[in-house]
Amino acid sequence: MPELPEVETIKIGLNRLLPGLKIKSVNHDWPKSFPNAPADVKRFMVGAEVKNVRRRAKVLIIELSTDYSLVVHLKMTGQLVFVGNERFGAGHPTVDLVSELPAKATRVSIVFTNDSKLFFNDQRKFGWMRLLPSIEVPEIDFFKKVGPEPLEADFTAKQFIQRVMRRKNSNIKSVLLDQTVIAGVGNIYADESLWAAKIHPATVVAKIPKVKLEVLYKGLIDVLKLSIKKGGSTDKNYVDAEGKRGSYLTFAKVFRRNGQPCPRCGTTIEKTRVAGRGTHYCPVCQKLPR
Ligand SMILES: [Zn+2]
Repeated sequence: MPELPEVETIKIGLNRLLPGLKIKSVNHDWPKSFPNAPADVKRFMVGAEVKNVRRRAKVLIIELSTDYSLVVHLKMTGQLVFVGNERFGAGHPTVDLVSELPAKATRVSIVFTNDSKLFFNDQRKFGWMRLLPSIEVPEIDFFKKVGPEPLEADFTAKQFIQRVMRRKNSNIKSVLLDQTVIAGVGNIYADESLWAAKIHPATVVAKIPKVKLEVLYKGLIDVLKLSIKKGGSTDKNYVDAEGKRGSYLTFAKVFRRNGQPCPRCGTTIEKTRVAGRGTHYCPVCQKLPR
């Protein structure tokens, strides 16, 4: 599953390539991946120009000149591959990022009038693409439930603390992973920001002093920003918009560092399970309050 920095990295890559291109044809033969009626696709996609590529949480929104948008969720194994003068693969790293397309996993092919192409490939078919009037995009269930964007300027420490405190009886890691609390934070950035704030991932929110939540807020913003700067892609399944693996994992302090020394105190980093997820922490820096 990509996290916010990975999808942001894909957005930046596609935004460099797609705007201004005009759609010549669309092929899609797997209805679950792209459930729109062929008539709508013909009417609102064919002939349309790509205006802009946006991101909300972990979802990409490709805005078209017809006031329709293509909404894309890559889920576990989705990838977007642009083939034109340059080639850009983004998402799950399979040979399809670099080999001849369309391939077996290709669910949707979009051909532009300059003969460049955008392929949506998805081996396991959990991902999806939907064509919607742009005005309806914020109304889809996924967006209505999702929390604020952590990197927006108006997402302050105060707002972070207020939202986290809504679930004050839950453990902090599960709250960070809850997409209705904050958008786009997954396992890697939860572990990294909790280490930065010296908070044990299983700590009940109500037991965390406000000042520590402020440090956690800052830690979270910092790791997200650093990861975007490094090309996102911290998880083994994700590569960036140019088909390269991101390098954030090189900078990770605890994530998948179990058995290695804590960069702060030298204690061996441990791995446990919190919120149903593999969780990495320093048993000395991140003590569970009694
Ligand atoms: Zn430590």
